[in-house]
Amino acid sequence: MRTSADRVPGQDGGGIPRTREPPGRIDGAAPKVLWWGRALFTVAAMTPTRQGSIRLLRIAGIDLFLHWSWFIVAFLEIKWRAGNYSSIIWNVLEYLSLFFIVMLHEFGHALACRQVGGTANQIVLWPLGGVAYVSPPQRPGPMLWSIAAGPLVNVVLFPIFGGLVLLAQFLGWPEELRDAYRLIVSVWGLNGLLLIFNLLPVYPLDGGQILRSLLWFVVGRARSLMAAAIVGFVGVAAMIGLALWIRDPWLVVMSVFILVNCWGGLMQARALARMARLPRLAGFACPSCHTGPPAGELWVCGQCRARFNTFAALGVCPQCGEQFPITQCFDCGASHPMPDWVQAPPPWPGA
Ligand SMILES: [Zn+2]
Ligand SMILES: [Zn+2]
Ligand SMILES: [Zn+2]
Repeated sequence: MRTSADRVPGQDGGGIPRTREPPGRIDGAAPKVLWWGRALFTVAAMTPTRQGSIRLLRIAGIDLFLHWSWFIVAFLEIKWRAGNYSSIIWNVLEYLSLFFIVMLHEFGHALACRQVGGTANQIVLWPLGGVAYVSPPQRPGPMLWSIAAGPLVNVVLFPIFGGLVLLAQFLGWPEELRDAYRLIVSVWGLNGLLLIFNLLPVYPLDGGQILRSLLWFVVGRARSLMAAAIVGFVGVAAMIGLALWIRDPWLVVMSVFILVNCWGGLMQARALARMARLPRLAGFACPSCHTGPPAGELWVCGQCRARFNTFAALGVCPQCGEQFPITQCFDCGASHPMPDWVQAPPPWPGA
């Protein structure tokens, strides 16, 4: 059994680039404004993207991609486990079932994220599981629901597969249809293992992100991520120890993947904390979350690389004159045209 991690990158996408996409960009146009700060760009560096992936299907506006590396690992996995059934066809079915469950899990994330008003339009399956690219509103409640919905799919599937196992026993499959029975039991077990693995409180696994969302209610956005990442490091250290002890190369690969992303979470938490400490610019507020943008030259012109404050400059690069009419909120991730950010001036005294 190979467990599958899945993660939801860009949890703190508010103003922080996911998959290196600069905020403040206009749809279809060349990259416009970039956030300053190298630490902000380390996140999501080790996740599969649609590049090198084939599109399998599109459901409810969500594209499902399959990364090319999946085929190689699927081939090896199926070959290595060929002795478990009387025919290799059953191994193929078992492997496909595993990824069908992973797919349902990822759709759980994506649909829940949309339900709370977030963006989710891409799921990529790869050998380590699935990645749902979700960007829920940057509040702990929507975040918690977007994350918890994935494992909830496995919770729902657990009694369904359990019922199928009992039904098969009742129908005498263990003697008559041995391979089919083994497959059902295996799928039931795989779903259970996926659930347990994903609920480990190791950021960025679902369990770690659920922990983070819960802490967010109490200690805020940056400190909750910091705490979850630190807990994640302890967990991933244990995981690496276990992987080396049982000499499971796959678990080593998985642990390294989690470690890199956990480190990304920590860097993001530091960047968030730094940003949160910055003074806010008066006279501007996000139409969505009503927070003022940070003061300081935090934006970099995509054209001439000049650093400036896009609000103070009203969306025009002071060096080359490039215009950036739409700006993404650092706090909530929503994008708004520059005029919508400008707060109405206080009423004239005595008027
Ligand atoms: Zn998940
Ligand atoms: Zn410029
Ligand atoms: Zn906002």
